[in-house]
Amino acid sequence: MKLPIYMDNHSTTSCDPRVVDAMLPFFTEKFGNSASRNHSFGWEAEEAVDQARRRIAKLIHADAKEIVFTSGATESDNLALKGVVEMYKEKGDHVITSSTEHRAVIDAAKSLEKKGVRVTYLPVDKTGMINPDDVRAAITDKTILISIMLASNEIGTIHPIQEIGKIAKEKGVLFHCDATQGVGKIPVNASEMGIDLMSFTSHKIYGPKGIGALYVRRKAPRVRLVPMIDGGGHERGMRSGTLPVPLIAGFGKAVELCEQEMPTESVRIQGLRDRLQAGITDALEAVYLNGHPTERLPGNLNLSFAYVEGEALLMGVKEIALSSGSACTSATLEPSYVLRALGVGSDLAHSSIRFGLGRFSTPEEVDYTIDRMIKAVNHLREMSPLYEMAKEGIDLKTVQWAAH
Ligand SMILES: *Cc1c(COP(=O)(O)O)cnc(C)c1O
Repeated sequence: MKLPIYMDNHSTTSCDPRVVDAMLPFFTEKFGNSASRNHSFGWEAEEAVDQARRRIAKLIHADAKEIVFTSGATESDNLALKGVVEMYKEKGDHVITSSTEHRAVIDAAKSLEKKGVRVTYLPVDKTGMINPDDVRAAITDKTILISIMLASNEIGTIHPIQEIGKIAKEKGVLFHCDATQGVGKIPVNASEMGIDLMSFTSHKIYGPKGIGALYVRRKAPRVRLVPMIDGGGHERGMRSGTLPVPLIAGFGKAVELCEQEMPTESVRIQGLRDRLQAGITDALEAVYLNGHPTERLPGNLNLSFAYVEGEALLMGVKEIALSSGSACTSATLEPSYVLRALGVGSDLAHSSIRFGLGRFSTPEEVDYTIDRMIKAVNHLREMSPLYEMAKEGIDLKTVQWAAH
């Protein structure tokens, strides 16, 4: 086993070597512009793009013409929200989303709010799940778009997308789904799920960074968008710019591998995740699962370690790449807005750690991580006066803090 260990696969994944092999020819001998119609260099590039487009469409049970290449899911989310709102502004001015979406959706919605669009941010229950009845109740005759993610990048909770899609169809409202964390890991069927627009990205499924897609439904209904980037009319006018053929070839290969390996891979990864969860929770008390116990991505484990600061814990296990629910990058030191939306208290939100297992995770890495987490948590708790008091049976909520 090699150190450091990568266990942060919700942030990004390593490129599969088979994906790199598929990309390489398109940097050198097959470097053509896929929009060059007059020579074999162009035709060769176009054929590679078409093949990738077909593979990607197949994975989500869509038609190749419904795939628009973008730079990633952030761009896809922005294009979906802003492009739809601009196109259908005569019809209405109301968007429904949830409080636990990725920042790419939340921030795009905030930007629309500044332009006068009304946005409803639906709450979630304590497992992080949206209630479809809340979606139904929020729809008005001015609602033009619903945007709900397939699975949470923080807590892994998988939303009842098919039910929400059905409601959207019934009410004649367009439905966008940020499926970035689900595509390639769990089965996704755009039609069956009633999805009209879907964002996803290559670098979360062992493909290269800088390439993603937006699925845009062409029939029943035909979805239209105002583009954010003009020039050249590539991607049927929805996203101009020369296509990055090597990245697209890699994205296509990554999708092909996911499709082939998903049935066995998801079982294996979930097995490792369950082993990690059991190993930690069997040995330590006051450890709490964030997210849904069963309706959860196979590789996701988000735990709060009471009486321990998440950032301090990460510093104690530096040779393992993990992510904490404290947004230490922000000036405000606010804990994760996703955990807060679940009703997790500030203390437990600050003590949360996200483990993200993936294709290249091994049982040895999991066992090493269990051992290191147990030691690090015990060590930090030994130094914690709060933990001492709690062990002595003092209810911390009743303590009068001198400093106040
Ligand atoms: C990673 C992620 C994104 C952003 O994708 P990029 O391709 O990095 O822009 C958007 N939504 C979700 C749910 C994600 O996990």
